[in-house]
Amino acid sequence: MRRTKIIATLGPATDKPDILEKLINAGVDVFRLNYSHQTHEHHENRMKEIRRLSSKHKHAVAIIADLQGPKIRIENFKNGEIELVEGENFKIDTTLSKNDGDQSRVGTSYKKLPDDIKVKDTLMIDDGRIVLNVLSKNKNVIDCKVITGGTLSNGKGINIQGGGLSAKSITEKDIEDMQHAAKIKVDYIAISFPRNGSDIKKARKMMKDCNCNAHVIAKIERADALINIDEIIEESDAIMIARGDLGVEIGDAALPPIQKSLIKKARQMDRVAITATQMMESMIENKIPTRAEVFDVANAVIDGTDAVMLSGETSIGNYPDEAVKSMSRICEEAEKQRSVRVSDHRTNLSFDNIPMAIAMSSMYSANHIGAKAICSLTETGGTCLWMSRISSGIPIFAFTRHTSTRRRVALFRGVFPMKFDITHTDPLEANKQMIDQLTEQKIVEKGDFVIITKGDLRGERGASNNMKIIQVGQALEHTL
Ligand code: PGA
Ligand code: MN
Repeated sequence: MRRTKIIATLGPATDKPDILEKLINAGVDVFRLNYSHQTHEHHENRMKEIRRLSSKHKHAVAIIADLQGPKIRIENFKNGEIELVEGENFKIDTTLSKNDGDQSRVGTSYKKLPDDIKVKDTLMIDDGRIVLNVLSKNKNVIDCKVITGGTLSNGKGINIQGGGLSAKSITEKDIEDMQHAAKIKVDYIAISFPRNGSDIKKARKMMKDCNCNAHVIAKIERADALINIDEIIEESDAIMIARGDLGVEIGDAALPPIQKSLIKKARQMDRVAITATQMMESMIENKIPTRAEVFDVANAVIDGTDAVMLSGETSIGNYPDEAVKSMSRICEEAEKQRSVRVSDHRTNLSFDNIPMAIAMSSMYSANHIGAKAICSLTETGGTCLWMSRISSGIPIFAFTRHTSTRRRVALFRGVFPMKFDITHTDPLEANKQMIDQLTEQKIVEKGDFVIITKGDLRGERGASNNMKIIQVGQALEHTL
């Protein structure tokens, strides 16, 4: 049983017949709809197909709507592309009309760009493939010298090295996309380029205005976000280490230590962490990953990530299901290491509330008695979230009557959603029924220890207040 979750991005490659089903069978836990591309209708059709396949295979998969955010781009060239040569001059001109770019200048959709820029700044275009140095600027035009040249084509992204773009993190387009995501009832919304906690608060407010009750993922992809990281994590349900844009702003070499510290921080603050971008990049073209990619995925697992994400590998790749399968086997192997299965169970902390104390005690007991499984009867999945912040090799089963909760926990490391309606179950039968489900699936057998947590008030949120250790096959299963 793989604990680390796999996120696959949808795109033209996954629209081909049968691919989605193959991806679900290969083990995708979460799909990402990338709102930077395609129409609402397109996303909606993909969504319906996922929901259909997910119920066909009785496998809860979550869906993330990833909003584009204020990605700043150059506009277009008369001839579609130009060739920039090192040492030449090149201008970004906010007054130029959209399709009028040429060898000397190009427009941008972000008219305030000159205000955010200082002389000597370094501009990174197309993920840093083209590098420009700012020589001078006025209200409308930024005059640059080409440091690294190459082919530059329409619509490529612009980043400032070191950060400093002031663009609002939620655009008009994002609001429309959010309304659509609310309508199709996605499980998670990813906010792109937030700078601070208040950007996430604003996003939540807008979500509320359009009746969207999805959980919030903050994409960490700006240098400025790192300065305000605590408040961003505090305001979010999950963070994504968006190594693509982040690496352009802070430099690629700074990424590995940042990834480790962000994952650690998120776990400590009871939030979920996603590691994203270029994990299996070469598999867009090839059937097998490079050794470096194998190590990257395994290292993210050892760092403690909840989920690893595929972008181009599944959205435009030639081998989408092979990419998922490779990722899956690398995660499983990495999870066998002792270092990712032990924990100090927060022995140095005091707990804020009863369910948290129950969650921590369960993990302590489970890891030390060698339990085979943890069954958590849950309404919101909150107890499972706390449990899964503790390193362990023992599966945590979230038994819940709510589809939305089953999908929410699909992202949590080591947590497996199970359908179970406590409000229609004789309380004296609940323990037995959960254990029966696990026995049927050959997860536990006679003599195994299973830990059960639940609340005395059935169907109440945040009410887990008891923990029980049961040995499978004992008459004690028929007790409260
Ligand atoms: P994107 O975000 O794929 O939406 O650009 C991820 C990243 O920047 O790494
Ligand atoms: Mn990005």
